[in-house]
Amino acid sequence: MTTGNYEVSWNELGDIEEGRPSLGGSTSVIVYRLFQFSLRHVLEERFGIEQTDALLRRAGRLAGKEFAATQLDRSQGVEDYLSEVVEKMETLKIGVLRAEKVDLQSMEFMLTVSEDLDCSGTPVIGRPICSFDEGFIAGVFERFAGREFDVREIDCWATGAKTCRFTVRPA
Ligand SMILES: [Zn+2]
Repeated sequence: MTTGNYEVSWNELGDIEEGRPSLGGSTSVIVYRLFQFSLRHVLEERFGIEQTDALLRRAGRLAGKEFAATQLDRSQGVEDYLSEVVEKMETLKIGVLRAEKVDLQSMEFMLTVSEDLDCSGTPVIGRPICSFDEGFIAGVFERFAGREFDVREIDCWATGAKTCRFTVRPA
């Protein structure tokens, strides 16, 4: 299998200042979602829901790892690291992350993301849809801990909750 032309590298995402001198670095959430939901649609058509979730999770993991590698200080303790994740996710307007449960012994966490970029405000369809986020969070923890994590979304705007809730545990 050939790999694509594009590496997922923070520095290869483009020089926004040069490329968009008048429009700049921001866009609307609607445009982001139009991209994400149309991509999900064609993936589900081709591969079904389960495979699509797995692919989006895999993509999220790549993104989360690159985000962690370039934007976060991994030399600090886990609690400070989490605070930095909260701060960066808010600055980048990804969502409002909160740790509901933290078990430093087992490295198991319960996290919520409110005002989530991917799903907040979307119609209730009875299943969680933030599989990209699942992978993203896993990638962020994996870069920190140097081992694999399993992240599952148990509540989502799409399941009728008003916040996304994720369980995080070592794989
Ligand atoms: Zn969600």
